[in-house]
Parts: sequence; C-alpha cells; structure tokens
Amino acid sequence: MPVVERIKAYHAELARIRRDIHAHPELGFKEKLTSDLVARELASYGIEVHRGLAKTGVVGRLKAGRANRAIGLRADMDALPIHEKNEFAHRSQHEGVMHACGHDGHTTMLLGAARYLAETRDFDGTVHFIFQPAEEGGGGARVMIEEGLFDKFPSDAVYGMHNWATAPAGTFGIRPGPIMAASGNFDLAIQGRGAHAARPESGVDPVVVAANMVMAIQTIASRNVSAVDSLVVSVTQIHGGDAYNVIPDEVTLCGNVRAYRPEVIAKIGPALERIANGVAATYGARAKLAFRMHYPPLVNHAEETRLAGNAAALVVGEANVNRDMPPRTASEDFSYMLEAKPGAFIFIGNGKGEGACDVHNPHYDFNDDIIPLGASFFVRLIETNLPKR
Ligand SMILES: [Zn+2]
Ligand SMILES: [Zn+2]
Repeated sequence: MPVVERIKAYHAELARIRRDIHAHPELGFKEKLTSDLVARELASYGIEVHRGLAKTGVVGRLKAGRANRAIGLRADMDALPIHEKNEFAHRSQHEGVMHACGHDGHTTMLLGAARYLAETRDFDGTVHFIFQPAEEGGGGARVMIEEGLFDKFPSDAVYGMHNWATAPAGTFGIRPGPIMAASGNFDLAIQGRGAHAARPESGVDPVVVAANMVMAIQTIASRNVSAVDSLVVSVTQIHGGDAYNVIPDEVTLCGNVRAYRPEVIAKIGPALERIANGVAATYGARAKLAFRMHYPPLVNHAEETRLAGNAAALVVGEANVNRDMPPRTASEDFSYMLEAKPGAFIFIGNGKGEGACDVHNPHYDFNDDIIPLGASFFVRLIETNLPKR
C-alpha cells in the first residue's frame, strides 16, 4: 500500500506551509509565528488546540470512537542560529536564523497527518499531536514533560520522526535500542602562573599542561571503555594567551562527549576529573572541571519500534525500511519522551542520497517531495495501532 492518496491531493498546500515556515525560522522557545501557524491549521481541521506548554508548545487532541487508548505523535518546530546560504525564494527572511535541520518539514508532515486523520477519523481512540519547541539544545521535550504534557495528554505510546539528509527519498530507517547518542559538554580551566616567555622557569606554563591534557583525554575512549562500546570525547576549543612573548596565567579547554550506554556515560566525568587533576599536578598547575551531560541517549522500545517499522513498510514497502540502521552519534531531546513513555523514533530519507547536503549546513533544505510519505507514515501508524473495532 503506497502513500495515502488523499494526502497527495493536498501536497501542494502542505509544501506551501513548509516553505512558509522555512522562510520564517525561529529559535527555541521563541517559535511565535510557527506555533501560531500550527494552532491555526489544527483549529481549521477541527482539532482541539492547547497552547502554552514550554512557552510555545502546541498540542492538538483528536478523539474518534470510544476506545481509551491514546498515542502521541511529536514534531519539533525550532530553527538554528545559522545564516542561510540558499538563494531560493523561500530562503530565511530572519537574519542569522535558519531551518537547517528540517524541523519545518517535521512540523508540516505532522500537520498533514492531522488534517487527514481529522477528515477521515478512521481509527478508534485519541491522537495527541505534539508540536514542541526548542529541540536544538533547549530541551523543549523535557520542559513540556515537566509542565505536565503526559498528565494533561495521557498517551500509551509516543512516536517521533526525523529526516535523514543522506538517505534516499522513499526509505525509512529505525532500530530497537539506542539509536541516537547522549551528549554532554565540559569546560576545563587550567590555572598556571604567567611569566615572560623568555623566562619560563619563573612561572607554570598552562599551555604545556593543556597540550598534555588534550592527549591524555584521548585515552578515555581508547583505554577506559570496552572496545565493543562507543564513546567520543572531542576537545573542541582551546583558549589562552594573547601575546607572542607572554606565558599566560590560564588556558581553558572545552569539549563535547557522545555515548549510548549509562555505564559508559558514568565513566566520563570521573575520568575527566582524574586526568585534569593528575596532569595539572604533574606540572604544578591546578585544574577546575565543569562537566554536564545534556540530552540522554535516545533508546527505542522494541515493540513500538516493530510497530513503527510496520507502518513505514505499509507506505514504502518492507524492502525500503531498514529495521537495523546503524545508531547515529547526534543527539535528540525526544530521548526524554522515550524515558517517560514507550515509543520509537524513526528516520525518513530526505532524498538526495550519498553526498547530499547534511543537516546543520547553511545549504541544507528539507525535501518537499517526502511530505506525503512522512504524513502517510503517521496516518498508517495511527490506523493500525488504534484500529476501529
Ligand atoms: Zn538539528
Ligand atoms: Zn533536528
């Protein structure tokens, strides 16, 4: 069974909405125009609209039949602080802000599904259409949950979808278990003692300490974690000094970590602490570490992953659904929703294949051709999991 025919009929209208959102991108918790548009669309379909969760969040509630079961479907609405380099007509009109992760497309695909489900009501139960703010770093999903998302809109399961820039259109990818990494950041201040560059013996050089520390940090992944586990620790910034002939007082290292398993995540902070203090002491310097985990790993639930894979197969055929895609090292705050509820997160191919422009790139654009595919996925997921009796 291919794409839902009826959705194809208003594909052009959905593409217009997608381009409108793309042209008016907004950063996390500031999705004013976007949430207004979403609320307006949902209301025009006859769906009950609730606003205000996590500032700009919107939830649509649609009930059909008498069953008590409920499913949540989530899309993210925020854009990135990137200056768009595309030249097409729907390029960003908001200086320095851009939909470079395809959340304009995610929002539109969920609107497409909402319209169809409201028109046909060919299911028995309740659907919660969850439009969340601030996925890109703000943890909008967590804030919505803290403000009572699943108390106000009890859901038996929750599903989310992200485009996959380098996978062909007409394909889906999913896997049970960890599918996206946990992420965290660290700041490491190395306190030495400044000196004249010609007389290093009179100071404690934090540049030399920093250089050793960067190398020692590489051993966390290679020496402290099993070879069958995954961990990335990247030092991404080194700050210190501002003259050719001065040894600075202080150097700061910053970095980012990615991992999938709680046991591995638990090792990162203590290892950084040990290396920071140990290496600093070796050279007579002092170190101060600030380490915080950010998003937890996104872990798909086995049964819901199977159900999501089935719904995708109804749209594009089993051969075009990779049910064992490799985990990705990026992070996603939908992970908070899957800590709260059973569910699954699926990837939809954005169409250009290998070598395509990836997300978070100033040349990226969501592919309007896949809007009916994504909307049909959500529709089939609801129709098969909230079946009419
Ligand atoms: Zn992103
Ligand atoms: Zn994204």
